[in-house]
Amino acid sequence: MHEFRFDPCHLPPEAEQLRGEVRTFLKSALKDVPAVVRAQTWSGYDPAFSKWMGEQGWIGMTWPKKYGGHERSALERYVVLEEMLAAGAPVGAHWIGDRQSGPLLLRFGTEDQRQKILPIAAKGELLLCIGMSEPDSGSDLAATRTKAVKTDGGWIVNGTKLWTSNAHNAHYMIALFRTHLDADNRHAGLTQFLVDLKTPGVTIRPIKDLTGNAHFNEVVFVDVFVPDNMRVGEEGNGWAQVTAELAYERSGPERYLSSYLLLGELIRELARRDDRSADAEIGRLIAHLVTLRQMSLSVAGLLEEGENPILEASVVKDLGALYEQELPGKAHELASVEPMIGTGGDYGQVLGYLTQASVSFSLRGGTREILRGIIARGLGLR
Ligand SMILES: Cc1cc2nc3c(=O)[nH]c(=O)nc-3n(C[C@H](O)[C@H](O)[C@H](O)COP(=O)(O)OP(=O)(O)OC[C@H]3O[C@@H](n4cnc5c(N)ncnc54)[C@H](O)[C@@H]3O)c2cc1C
Repeated sequence: MHEFRFDPCHLPPEAEQLRGEVRTFLKSALKDVPAVVRAQTWSGYDPAFSKWMGEQGWIGMTWPKKYGGHERSALERYVVLEEMLAAGAPVGAHWIGDRQSGPLLLRFGTEDQRQKILPIAAKGELLLCIGMSEPDSGSDLAATRTKAVKTDGGWIVNGTKLWTSNAHNAHYMIALFRTHLDADNRHAGLTQFLVDLKTPGVTIRPIKDLTGNAHFNEVVFVDVFVPDNMRVGEEGNGWAQVTAELAYERSGPERYLSSYLLLGELIRELARRDDRSADAEIGRLIAHLVTLRQMSLSVAGLLEEGENPILEASVVKDLGALYEQELPGKAHELASVEPMIGTGGDYGQVLGYLTQASVSFSLRGGTREILRGIIARGLGLR
């Protein structure tokens, strides 16, 4: 039976030094941004901010220099992410490329694809989105139906992708299509492609979520031509590739820091009233946060050592989402302020936004039930 592995991980001095630089940068960059906007953290979209990050060398930090990267360690990158999320920086315009599409192309892309995409992505000037989910294929990703059929010099694509974050702002989608149907093995016959979203036949329709924002989309493909040189990895290797990609998607500090702004605002609100009745509960919330951080850091340490901690990353995402979703209810209980939308003080508005948004935290990136299935399998329980 497999056991959890959460080895202690200590950040090296150069990472802590970098933390100071990032904090100074953020203090000035975010000084006029309202708390309710900062509460969106990695869902926040600001291309100018992403360009700024690129200029600092904080996108593609671990990538090779020849692709515009900076050859720094995964732990240095971790510190930058941690500071960005804790401050509520609007990192959404480069987040997907930095977190998963860049590493995916480094591992499976062609030299031509890396040269074309990575240097511009590292400058914060290129937005990528992930085309996995479909109307009848979310948790059950192997049910992917959007078809890519071989033609002269490329592929013709027909089908629909759903819930695609930022597709309306993105230049390219890394999409999973069915290139072959094997009735006995649904995981076979899936292939990834880099799709230029300006290609004729691609229609992107926004979908409003509970908060009233339209950050994700339905993307419809009608006879869309994708050239051969845009296939990512071997034909039929898509399942193995998306599985590797999801490990990057599930392991970062964004999986426990999405409601962090609210904790700060709650403490400020209680301090303003000189109310000490909630001290023990605040202490408990902070203790949980510190534990989650140690677990997440440990996963980062394993990734730095070249391990593939899928099981541990799933545990951090599941426990992290539970924590993030518990915070708005707790905050409501402790400070007795109603959640506000579009009006009210900082605390009420941050509470309002996160009360609505946090519902989705255990859906995006894989639902709670699916993660628990992965954990059970990893432990040899199913
Ligand atoms: C904010 C947000 C952003 C997103 N961004 C993207 C994106 O950029 N790209 C992308 O491709 N997708 C994206 N998604 C989609 C997300 O990955 C899916 O919503 C998720 O995988 C669940 O799929 P589904 O919505 O089809 O639900 P379903 O798979 O239909 O699940 C519905 C419910 O049934 C449960 N369930 C399903 N199967 C099982 C099972 N075998 N055992 C037990 N329970 C089960 C689920 O846990 C869930 O509670 C995003 C979603 C959200 C909320």
